[in-house]
Amino acid sequence: MTDDPARLKRRANALVAFTATAVLVGAVLGWMLPGWLPEDAESRRLTLLVIGFPGELLMGMLKMMVVPLVVATMVVGIASLGDIRKAGKIGYRTIAYYAVTTGMSVLTGIILVNIIQPGVGGTDLAPVGGELPQSLMQPKGALESLLQVVKGMFPPNLLQAGVEMNVLGLIVFSVVLGAVLSTMGERGRPVLKFFDSFNEAIMKIVHLIVWYAPIGIASLLMARMGNAGEAFFTEEIPRLAKYMTTVIVGLGIHVVITLPLIYWLFKKGNPFKYLLGMAQALLTAFSTASSSATLPITLECARNNNKISERTSGFVLPLGATINMDGTALYEAVAVIFIAQSLGIDLTLGQMVVVFFTATLAAIGAAGIPEAGLVMMAIVLTAVGIDPREAGLILAVDWFLDRFRTMVNVAGDAIGAGVVDHLEQRDAPALAAAA
Ligand code: ASP
Repeated sequence: MTDDPARLKRRANALVAFTATAVLVGAVLGWMLPGWLPEDAESRRLTLLVIGFPGELLMGMLKMMVVPLVVATMVVGIASLGDIRKAGKIGYRTIAYYAVTTGMSVLTGIILVNIIQPGVGGTDLAPVGGELPQSLMQPKGALESLLQVVKGMFPPNLLQAGVEMNVLGLIVFSVVLGAVLSTMGERGRPVLKFFDSFNEAIMKIVHLIVWYAPIGIASLLMARMGNAGEAFFTEEIPRLAKYMTTVIVGLGIHVVITLPLIYWLFKKGNPFKYLLGMAQALLTAFSTASSSATLPITLECARNNNKISERTSGFVLPLGATINMDGTALYEAVAVIFIAQSLGIDLTLGQMVVVFFTATLAAIGAAGIPEAGLVMMAIVLTAVGIDPREAGLILAVDWFLDRFRTMVNVAGDAIGAGVVDHLEQRDAPALAAAA
């Protein structure tokens, strides 16, 4: 019944309209909210708690799905690739796409921030409120951060990896489990069958969550904007307007020009239609500021609206939510160069190259959770000799830009799934003939 294409299309359209309205309503009410909130701190806190409550529920529902979804989709996805040559191919294609697009994104940021020069001359270096994350107070170098990412791939305790939402660790385990099960023939089949139906059940739950998502989305936006207070709109935005514009224009170029071009070059299809199919995932990314929490909806949109195969989406999207962050990479580069400009530090070409590589590394290492990019910025700042505490300059608007970059992170994963799936489908007949 649900497979009827016309019905599926109506359902997808209704969801997008419902979600877009929620974002609009949430943003407008959230913008007005600081003026309406009670003066008294305790009543203010309670009001925001109630307004944000439906959003907290949505976050809980989405996060609840992540661990079972990552394990089940990965095991089934890898096992269904069967032929190990094919498994290798999808792996290197995905990694190549991720590496190239992240690099292009950082490059866009570096070029733009050098043209616009948002930090030269006009930034008021007034100290901002809020507390800096620990990692910026006691930063780790690039080498240590890299080693930590690799260490996270082999979590000593799987349950703990689940508790800490160490998605990369779960992915490594699930890939190996799926690959091993597929070599076990009959003996491996019952376990694979279990994961297969488990996977389907989880996706059915996601099917239900997507209808609640718009309510949670409006609530999340209202509570977050109400929390920001009036000073955010009247002081912080004007003070950092040029910097914010640079980041948002850079992200816009990446998502409206670069990624669609790549999609079109490979697939020759309409990239905007494809992105429209991902609309609910993109809006959820905007509202939750977390690619990991958005993952269930990303998978749902890719499979249902864009007809990406289960095995490609099951491999490319969970991996992308963890290591492919085009938006974060661009943001790291722009932020660090902006901070240098504001401090009157002239970065050499060599230092720009260092920014390029460390911003990429920071994006790979950043977890798919809110404001992880700010935490990772210590790597890039220390690499060019700037005290990480200088990140305080951009702290006040980080939560806001986080939404835009997370949306681009998810768009990058989605286009990746489209490109890789196309290449996989193209090879399918050839492999079948060779078998
Ligand atoms: N919030 C981003 C994400 O989940 C990471 C970041 O802070 O840049 O994709």
